[in-house]
Amino acid sequence: MSDHTPDHAPHHPDETSHKLPTDTADGLLLIISGPSGVGKTTITRGVERSIAGSVFSVSATTRARTEADVEGVDYHFVADAEFDALVAQDELLEWANVFGKRYGTPRKWVEEQLRRGRLVILEIDVEGARQVKAKMPDAFAIFVLPPSEEVLFQRLRDRKREGEDAIHRRFAEARREIATARQGTIYDLFITNDDLKRAIAEAVTAVEARRQRPRVGR
Ligand code: ADP
Ligand code: 5GP
Repeated sequence: MSDHTPDHAPHHPDETSHKLPTDTADGLLLIISGPSGVGKTTITRGVERSIAGSVFSVSATTRARTEADVEGVDYHFVADAEFDALVAQDELLEWANVFGKRYGTPRKWVEEQLRRGRLVILEIDVEGARQVKAKMPDAFAIFVLPPSEEVLFQRLRDRKREGEDAIHRRFAEARREIATARQGTIYDLFITNDDLKRAIAEAVTAVEARRQRPRVGR
């Protein structure tokens, strides 16, 4: 946690003045990845409800807003030039191209929430997870798998968010993403999202166990 945890206990009153009463040393970064339509958002919102003090990181994206999206809740929808500026000013903890559009995590906001002892949830792709793990090895990364390819395809359709072409593109990409995730060493845990309640419970149990584990620098 060297990127966002003070390396010494504060002694001088001035050093504590920026801190809030809720500050704790329990900050943890939780990465949730998985193919489009597998149930990441549903699981993320379930984990958020189950664990007090957890917050969802709202990414910036250049993709178009759909009818289902709420600005500032699901994403910050930005123009290409605005995204360029975020990258140039080092405002993003990580960013990646996904389905031809750019998505990135707000660095300062995440660092601030971690300082406050929050569980900060990032719903990001494999490339983004790789970048975060390289910078913050203490991050806990979960990859969500579908029970089968057929079920994944059906869930993409059920969401009624994209047209048939986009659904087929996202489905084709899913195979590649699952293979990359399985080969690498990024993910600490793989969860199969068959029964939703069980999948959320598995994630919550793993996160709580991880938070109780002593970490370097504490
Ligand atoms: P993602 O964020 O990974 O793209 P969503 O959370 O949007 O996926 O879920 C895709 C669709 O699948 C949604 O319609 C959601 O309600 C449904 N879904 C999620 N988890 C389950 C599950 N365990 N069983 C059945 N349907 C599910
Ligand atoms: P969607 O367009 O379905 O909302 O998101 C597509 C994919 O982009 C998601 O499956 C998610 O993994 C990824 N994604 C969303 N936000 C970010 C982000 O900030 N960074 C990265 N690297 N990927 C993201």
